[in-house]
Amino acid sequence: EKPDWLSRALARAGAMPQDEADAAIKAGRVTVNGRVATTPLTPVPPDAVIKVDGMPVRKGAPTHVLAFHKPAGVLTSTARQHRTGTVFELLLPQLPLELNRFTWHAVGRLDVDTTGLLLFTNDDKLVAHATSPETNLPKRYVATVFSTADDAKVEPLRQGMMLDDGPARPAGVRVRDEHTVEVTLTEGRHHQVKRMLGAVGLPARALHREAVGDITLDDIPEGGFRLLTEQEVREKL
Ligand code: URA
Repeated sequence: EKPDWLSRALARAGAMPQDEADAAIKAGRVTVNGRVATTPLTPVPPDAVIKVDGMPVRKGAPTHVLAFHKPAGVLTSTARQHRTGTVFELLLPQLPLELNRFTWHAVGRLDVDTTGLLLFTNDDKLVAHATSPETNLPKRYVATVFSTADDAKVEPLRQGMMLDDGPARPAGVRVRDEHTVEVTLTEGRHHQVKRMLGAVGLPARALHREAVGDITLDDIPEGGFRLLTEQEVREKL
């Protein structure tokens, strides 16, 4: 484990969001191995004892994952930030206090106009796990296409096609009806589904993500979220 700087270490431990940690450190409320820290950039060795207001910070916050139904028109920024127009701006005000103190990360990205399931977690190892192609975690999308889809047209997606940035893995594809195509990928490059469909003459008019692993949106309304149980995270991701 690399040493972290103090405000990040506090955020990662789930003690408080990084901006609050910065303020607490500047106010002289935080000690590292018994010495008052003077700057948020104080390096923190992995075995350091951190205290806030004299209370030790428990390390290793449990992993939390929440499922969010992303509406169209909001940007996916990957780290918690207060910029307007992002998924965080929609999500964070809805979180109860006990969840709001975590540093949430989006698990992958959806394009601004893409809707559907976007996961968030406080555990960056889980982000790496869920987004790595090596994990083979399926992500299921449904595209509404302008022209008429049929099995022959989508066959190249099943075979594995060449994209500008290299070969795409064979995708799972089901033509649900002539304007609705389901595409399941185990990787997630920039605009990948749109590029694959565009390359076979089926540009997408709308794209929606229905599932990540075995996690589905169920009845989460647009803009709403649901906290996953530990069991779901273990069994479905
Ligand atoms: N593929 C895309 O083209 N866009 C997304 O948002 C996700 C996958």
